[in-house]
Amino acid sequence: MTDLTSLTIAEAREGLASKSFTARELTDAHLAAIEAARVLNAYVLETPDRAREMADAADKQIGKGDGGPLAGIPLGIKDLFATRDIRTTACSKILGNFVPPYESTVTSQLWRDGAILLGKLNNDEFAMGSSNETSCFGPVVNPWRREGSNTHLVPGGSSGGSASAVAALLCMGATATDTGGSIRQPAAFTATVGVKPTYGRCSRWGIVAFASSLDQAGPIARTVRDSAILMRSMAGHDPKDTTSVNIGVPDYEAAIGKSVKGMKIGIPKEYRLDGMPAEIEKLWSDGAAWLKAAGAELVEVSLPYTKYALPAYYIVAPAEASSNLARYDGVRYGLRVPGRSIGEMYESTRAEGFGDEVRRRVMIGTYVLSAGYYDAYYLRAQKVRTLIKKDFEDCFAKGVNAILTPATPSAAFGVGEKGGADPVEMYLNDIFTVTVNMAGLPGIAVPAGKDAQGLPLGLQLIGRAFDEETLFSLGEVIEQAAGRSTPPRWW
Ligand code: GLN
Repeated sequence: MTDLTSLTIAEAREGLASKSFTARELTDAHLAAIEAARVLNAYVLETPDRAREMADAADKQIGKGDGGPLAGIPLGIKDLFATRDIRTTACSKILGNFVPPYESTVTSQLWRDGAILLGKLNNDEFAMGSSNETSCFGPVVNPWRREGSNTHLVPGGSSGGSASAVAALLCMGATATDTGGSIRQPAAFTATVGVKPTYGRCSRWGIVAFASSLDQAGPIARTVRDSAILMRSMAGHDPKDTTSVNIGVPDYEAAIGKSVKGMKIGIPKEYRLDGMPAEIEKLWSDGAAWLKAAGAELVEVSLPYTKYALPAYYIVAPAEASSNLARYDGVRYGLRVPGRSIGEMYESTRAEGFGDEVRRRVMIGTYVLSAGYYDAYYLRAQKVRTLIKKDFEDCFAKGVNAILTPATPSAAFGVGEKGGADPVEMYLNDIFTVTVNMAGLPGIAVPAGKDAQGLPLGLQLIGRAFDEETLFSLGEVIEQAAGRSTPPRWW
């Protein structure tokens, strides 16, 4: 029998339906793989007992012929999603051993459809980061290495555990979240597919909040089809999230293989950065050529406010974070460091519970929201955000169906290599992805090639609001042309 962990979700779905193997066997194969890959530090909590219980239940359902669309599919869940009775920490010391008494809407929909929980996946603390190095559980290791090198590389972030686990065959797919690039950038660093849905497409209820006007949940998977399968279960209106939009969830999988003939694809000239590595340039033009060969029409477009996206993001996101993180005060849950007064208790708890990057964001956020600076920074950033959104609207108004860009400015880098002296060096990773969050649009990252050292590189497609289907159709064209790859196993 082929190694069950190397199947795609679509293949496993078939194998389960035809009884070639059971959900229990599929789950056990993944649990064994997880155990053998602890060096990657992708999981912060393994839940084998829960997994086997769920697998047995799925086998029963499948046996009765009424398994859900994800019956028996083992998944990993980013530790930002609240899972009932299972520790959820956002990879921050401040949540300590918090065990939520409720389940996030997105994960509850996955379980409703028959998926299996293998465990909780590592991420940057409160999803703040681009390398998974700010996690209180330590960095995640990318299963990809430079040719001929043993250096540990980062898988990107903040959904580094999700990307690493999916790439290393430690789950068939994973949940992730994206506030400025946290699904698409790690997907690009690991040759996986990552989808950041339109803002409002997936419920944020029960997901630890970072920047509420930017946060969106989405899948990371090994193929475009698998990501479409997961999206269908994750998406949908939820009255518990007032920003969740009440429109029907299409059958995303049906978009796979649909012709892209006649589609207009925008190539934004502002994304051609000075000093951009030649291999990123090449990747981008390869992607354009593949889409053209499939019948799409390429047009140059302009998104003039792009250059203000990153600075504006680093005002809006910390502002919202400082407000969202005010709740971690040692009173209701998580860590409490005692003090002589309540003020001292708050201070000591927050000083001890938050890591450096989170503290930096809370300080920046508090500053830009404070009286006297609010207009100069926060309000201004909000205005810039509106202009960024308008850039995209103008472009789509001219009939553009989707926009093609590189997903990241480089391939994966070494653990400890970036951002030590200057945090902006790390922030620059999201230069191609933050605009999409600022505008609330959907984006997909698809593996599209390798750099000179054999490391994966990804392309990004940006779509119209609530038109994820077009991204799946176009993404599949790129996947077909570029081919799929998994990292050679060294762990
Ligand atoms: N890297 C960005 C940040 O640190 C985005 C993170 C994310 O999308 N959660 O804010």
